Amino acid sequence: TRVLLTGGSGFIAAHTLDVLLKHGHSVVTTVRTQAKADKIKAAYPNYGKDKLDFAIVPDIAQPTAFDRAVISDPPFEVVLHTASPFHFNVTDVQKDLLDPAIIGTTGILKSIKKSAPSVKRVVITSSFAAIINPSKGFWPEHTYSEEDWNPITREGAEENAMQGYRASKTFAEKAAWEFLEKDEPNFTITTINPPMVFGPIIHNLESLENMNTSNQRILWAAQGKFKDEIPATGIHIWVDVRDVAEAHVAAFEKSDAANKRFFTLAGYFSNKEITQIIRKHFPQYKVLPTNSTPGGDYPEGGVDALYKFNNKRSIDILGLKYRTLEETVVDSIKSFQAVGL
Ligand code: NDP
Repeated sequence: TRVLLTGGSGFIAAHTLDVLLKHGHSVVTTVRTQAKADKIKAAYPNYGKDKLDFAIVPDIAQPTAFDRAVISDPPFEVVLHTASPFHFNVTDVQKDLLDPAIIGTTGILKSIKKSAPSVKRVVITSSFAAIINPSKGFWPEHTYSEEDWNPITREGAEENAMQGYRASKTFAEKAAWEFLEKDEPNFTITTINPPMVFGPIIHNLESLENMNTSNQRILWAAQGKFKDEIPATGIHIWVDVRDVAEAHVAAFEKSDAANKRFFTLAGYFSNKEITQIIRKHFPQYKVLPTNSTPGGDYPEGGVDALYKFNNKRSIDILGLKYRTLEETVVDSIKSFQAVGL
């Protein structure tokens, strides 16, 4: 299948590209610069232009950013849209987060409708950020599923960078479903909604300083930053990046996945558990917290005091088999060691 993948330099997109190529698909991926294209290309020396090619899209916040990228020969049948800002270095919520997320999403949908009638399936990387209701806290009596929507408002987006990010994902996903309803395109839409994504980094990292946002806590733990106190875990559910990548590909390979959201998650974690796994497998890191280091634990009552979750749809329809936290943390650290940890 001929596939357009946006944001190929990203943490999740790198693994998605890997799965696409392993499944024999022919991929064009967008990146912001030629240097990023060259770096990805170097990781796949045996793939010719017919299997892996690039399109430069410098800024997805421009409404016509994807006008040219959606046109290809042979034409695309599938578009996977993963590019969206995920960081908290924010001075202007509108410009730094909302515009690239929302205009990026509506922009690519409009470009496909206008210029790529061969596209039948679109998969969008959304997030648990578009599902969670943060005002409810741990909410032990609630089971989160694809039925839930973050009720955040435009004003709420201004509270802090975290709320700005959650708003960007919520509004972007809503805009996609609205487009499906109102513009009646020729394609179906599927969204993948993961919580905290952990796992190995592949072919996109220059230095540990540029670690993607969700993996930072694993890196920081190994670097000794949690030695005296482990920070609060915050969101207590997680998933491995390789499972998220499989989900993106299954989302178009399986016809039953069309026009559905998928809450893709493996289970609960705490920052304390992450540090314990690192201690067990990498005794050379002497600066890790011990069992008596404060912080980073589940709330009183353990996982029973947390919200419940339902990931059944992702298992039944996408066929996911979720990796364990231990495997994920170990593989993450090994990949960080390859760039100097
Ligand atoms: P990364 O930061 O590694 O990837 C983000 C990608 O988006 C990069 O390729 C980045 O390009 C691109 N991008 C951001 N802003 C722009 C812009 N204005 N113009 C062009 N490209 C842009 O993060 P992830 O891989 O984690 O995130 C990928 C997707 O997954 C996002 O949609 C994110 O919201 C979502 N997600 C991530 C979760 C996680 O825990 N990691 C959880 C749930 C959802 P460049 O590298 O050149 O800046």
